[in-house]
Amino acid sequence: MQPAGLAVLLVAVWCHAVPAIADVQPEQRNFEPSTDPALFAFDRGAGDGGLYTFDNLSVAQDPRAYRPDVGALDFVYHNHEEMTRYLRATTARYPNLTALYSIGKSAQGRDLWVLVVSASPYEHMLGKPDVKYIGNIHGNEAVGRELLLHLIQYLVSSYGSDPYIKWLLDNTRIHILPSLNPDGYAASKEGTCDGGQGRYNSRGFDLNRNFPDYFKQNNKRSQPETEAVKDWISKIQFVLSGSLHGGALVVSYPYDNTPNAIFHSYLSQPSLTPDDDVFKHLSLIYANNHGKMSRGVACKTASPSFENGITNGAAWYPLTGGMQDFNYVWHGCMEVTLEVSCCKFPPAYELRKYWDDNQMSMIKFLAEAHRGVQGFIMDPTGNPVERAQLKIKGRDIGFTTTKYGEFWRILLPGVYKLEVYADGFVPKDVDFMIVEQHPTLLNVTLQPAKEAAEYSASQLPGASYDRPLTPTTPIANREPARPNAANQDRLIFTS
Ligand SMILES: [Zn+2]
Repeated sequence: MQPAGLAVLLVAVWCHAVPAIADVQPEQRNFEPSTDPALFAFDRGAGDGGLYTFDNLSVAQDPRAYRPDVGALDFVYHNHEEMTRYLRATTARYPNLTALYSIGKSAQGRDLWVLVVSASPYEHMLGKPDVKYIGNIHGNEAVGRELLLHLIQYLVSSYGSDPYIKWLLDNTRIHILPSLNPDGYAASKEGTCDGGQGRYNSRGFDLNRNFPDYFKQNNKRSQPETEAVKDWISKIQFVLSGSLHGGALVVSYPYDNTPNAIFHSYLSQPSLTPDDDVFKHLSLIYANNHGKMSRGVACKTASPSFENGITNGAAWYPLTGGMQDFNYVWHGCMEVTLEVSCCKFPPAYELRKYWDDNQMSMIKFLAEAHRGVQGFIMDPTGNPVERAQLKIKGRDIGFTTTKYGEFWRILLPGVYKLEVYADGFVPKDVDFMIVEQHPTLLNVTLQPAKEAAEYSASQLPGASYDRPLTPTTPIANREPARPNAANQDRLIFTS
């Protein structure tokens, strides 16, 4: 990581040369765009922190970059240089739909490229979610890496003709990191279905055992690839995420670890999150839209079979330091592990079949970011309350507002209570309802706490009396939202 090299990109792209397309019908999309003026009440602050990138963005936009016919991405494996060329060529060909940035470098110095695909690639869209896919965290699990390149290709080439893709990109920023472990990939071999060659980074670390852990102390030395992800997801608030793996055919959801993983794979017990209903739902969306995953057929006779093609991570086998638990517990991002191929590195001629099986799943899964509740936390003057701490009552993994006061939480239909706690304000509880047809828009106005304001004023300038919300503090361990049933906000439903 090179934090000193961070630079905020100040370019906002607003002009889209998009051919005329028939309007998206809400019933088709299971989504109705909000017309609530509150969504547009804040100054967008053009370029202010929407996307972060590194100095090498200028490299990414090199006009001399090789430009193949990206309308026909081959079903072959792309090494790091070929992948880099493809990503650059795609940004050159689709400048209004894509932006390329690097979140850092691997241990051997390869860029960890992320391509954003969105109608607003360079800037966060106020009130609209950011989502991500990460591929190839295990270097020898190569199918996901190619699937993500094909997903990019499909999204950019379908925007002008497919109303669903247009709706998705108009309302979502999709960040795609095809390879988190390019060094491991370089050490892997096509046609090798099993084994660990290339699984680890170049220093021999398993990156999916390298994150801080909610249940156990993780003493593994943090690797540059891991640090890059931690830095990335602390800067962009992702609502939903999928990490693509190979070696099995199943969606595995948090928790991966458990408080009592003594007997490991012999006596694996489920380790369920308070959002288990949501994680099961998200996993089923992927499995049910997949060509064969939901059948739950075992990869080999000696391998486990998974009912409906999904499993709790710890119930399969517990692990410490996994990425999905970290995303969920530290950042409130719903991440699942997508095991997309029984063979970790199958021959290239099978890639088309994998794309056919996963295409619909990959798209429908991302659209789930638009399910549940979203809104803004504001003060009485309408200014956003940043880093307000939020919880859904009964679900003790919290989440926070962005610098614009935005929040999102994926929830299934039902009645819920949002607990809001922000320093210097009176805590507040808000009841709301989720329906199947569209997300619930919920804006909450907090009243300043007089005592807290006076206390704050007595502090030295710049002094903070709040516990810092550092990335090393799991949200679950932070100050709980305090119930105060007297303050109920009205419900705002989109229409
Ligand atoms: Zn893996």
